[in-house]
Formats: sequence, structure tokens, C-alpha cells
Amino acid sequence: MQSRKVPFLDLRVTDPSERSDLLAAVDAVLQHGRLVLGPEVEALESRFAAACGRRFAVGVNSGTDALFLALKALGLQAGDEVITTSMSWIATANAIAMTGATPIFADVADDLNIDPASVSRLLGPRTKALLVVHFNGRLCNTEALQELARSHRLLFVEDAAQAFAASNAAGKAGSFGIMGCFSMNPMKVFAALGEAGMIVTDEPALRDRLSALRYNGTVNREDCHVISLNARLDTIQAAMLLRRMDRVEEAIEYRRSLARRYHAGLRGLVAIPEERPGCRDVFYTYTIRTPQRDQLIAALAERGIETRVRHPLIMPEHTAYRPSARGEWANARRLVKEIVSLPIHGAMGADDVDYVVHCVRDYLAGR
Ligand SMILES: *Cc1c(COP(=O)(O)O)cnc(C)c1O
Repeated sequence: MQSRKVPFLDLRVTDPSERSDLLAAVDAVLQHGRLVLGPEVEALESRFAAACGRRFAVGVNSGTDALFLALKALGLQAGDEVITTSMSWIATANAIAMTGATPIFADVADDLNIDPASVSRLLGPRTKALLVVHFNGRLCNTEALQELARSHRLLFVEDAAQAFAASNAAGKAGSFGIMGCFSMNPMKVFAALGEAGMIVTDEPALRDRLSALRYNGTVNREDCHVISLNARLDTIQAAMLLRRMDRVEEAIEYRRSLARRYHAGLRGLVAIPEERPGCRDVFYTYTIRTPQRDQLIAALAERGIETRVRHPLIMPEHTAYRPSARGEWANARRLVKEIVSLPIHGAMGADDVDYVVHCVRDYLAGR
């Protein structure tokens, strides 16, 4: 097979019709001049809430802000414990720690998502909340985790940063918790052209709290009721996200078609992220597992294929957490040495997937 370059990501906007749509959206904002929390922010919030099956959405500056403000809106503070997964981007743990609460790290199951059995072993008198992550665009075991939250009276919050429009038989990402938090940073499946985040909820009181928290805790933009930071969403990002929302379903279906092509080519050779019945995964990453991970990465790099390990450090092993991290993560620690994410994005064609499959097979099966 002809050698080629397959980048892990390509964030350029090359489709001429999408480009002109986005530029028109920016131009409209330049004309009306309401650059922060303008009308496009409100329009995006309504569409976003509807897309998640929730009543309200509050736009913020990033997924990290979404998580931090959601936990803050629930009143979490020093002395509280929040159980979360050990395998996620570090923003998940940081959001908990920034409220003053202590993250307790639960282990993951073989699908890399938080393991309910581990969560139940970590419950204690100080446990106030469960912050689950839908890792890699696949819902975690919402049924078992919601049941644990219900029976132990825990606040159930979703970090759905990687999972916009993912679902299982019971519902969509962001529809399970008291609040669902999203990131639209440029790498995500539903992506802004810069930083952006969103929180969804059904409760008017939480919506109001979040609206205050995202602007220095002020009510009517004048009087500070709770101490907070500035986490408002730019109108220009919201305007572009609104345009992208028209195309996001198509983009997700395209990703899913690439994933099915990977499945067909790699099944039996490595552990592949196959969808479970009733689920719709959005493939934020296409992450495989193999004991020969490091050699495979090198072999693919030599043939022009860029891969990533998302993320090489599990959360409790980051420098800031390692000395005091609590919980259990034996399975996460074992699995993190075997995972590698293959390129999957809208700028790739089926022929690119076939090339990657060919090179993986060549290396793993051909030796
Ligand atoms: C991307 C991400 C975040 C943080 O979102 P930002 O918008 O980059 O701040 C939080 N949690 C998870 C699981 C993520 O993937």
C-alpha cells in the first residue's frame, strides 16, 4: 500500500461552505457588537439544552469552568469528598480540588470507564457527590452509577466533555445528572474555534446560580452575592457553534462510519471499542488496546501515522496529586500502558482508515 501521512488531528476549516458559514456568523457579531453573552449565546443555550433533553443550558468559557462552576453551585467545599474516575483529562480532578473538596479516584472497568463496583468500595461518610466521565465518547454505566448515587444520597454530576450526543438506551449524555458539563474546545467532537463550555440542568435555581457564578457571582451584573470568577462565553464562539450545530449530527455519523471501518479491519487483532447494544458512541477517540503498544506507536510513526496516548498519566499519578491521592486504580494503571488512540476525524477518508488498518495488521499480524 502506498505510504501517506495521516495526522492525528486537523483543525483547519477547509470545506469552503463551512468556512463561509463561520465567517458570516462572525460578521453578524461584528455588526451588532454584543461580544460577550450576546444573543447568539442565548440561542446556543436553547439549542444545546434541547439537544441534551434538558430545560436549561448555561454557556461558559471552557469545559473546566463548566465542571468547576457546577460543583461550586452545589455547594461543595473543603471536607467533602467527590468520587470520580481515575482515567480522564486532569480537568476533572482539578475542578473538584478547586472547590476545596477532595477527589477520590475510582478504578475503571476494561472499557476504560468508571467501575461502579470500585465506586461502592470508596463510599464513606464524607462522600457528597459522584462526578462521572463518559470517557472517549462512550457513556459510562449510568444505570448502576445512578442507583449508587440514589441509594447513598449523592449528587450525581456528569463530565460529558467528550460525549456530546452520545447515548445509551436510557438517554443522552448530559441527561442523567443533576447537571451535565460539556467542553467545546477545538479537539472535541462538537467543537468551537477556541475555548467554550456548557452546563445543562433542569433546575431553575441551579440555572440562576450558574448565571451568577459565571460572572463574578453577581446578580444583575452589579452586586456580588457569592465569590466567583469570570467564566463567560464569547458571542463569537457561540455564533460559530450555532452554525456547527447544524452539521454536528452529520459529523458524528461520519466518525461512526470510520469507527465501523476500523472495527472491521482490527477485530480479533487488538481490543477495539465496539459499541454495546442500545448505545450510540461518538468516538471522541478511537482507542485500541494492545500489550505491544509502544512498539506499535513507533512502527506507525515510521509509516506516517500519528497516534496519541490519551492520557499517559492517570489522574492520581499526576505530580500534583500523587503524594496524597486516595482511592484505587490498579486496573487503570494496567490499562493505561496498553492504550493508544488512532486518528479519527472529519478530514480523513475511508482510504486513510484502510491505510492505518493495513499498517497495524502488518506490524501485529505480519511479524
Ligand atoms: C476536554 C475535557 C475537559 C476540559 O474541557 P476544556 O474545555 O478543555 O476546559 C474536562 N473533562 C474532560 C473529560 C475532557 O475531555
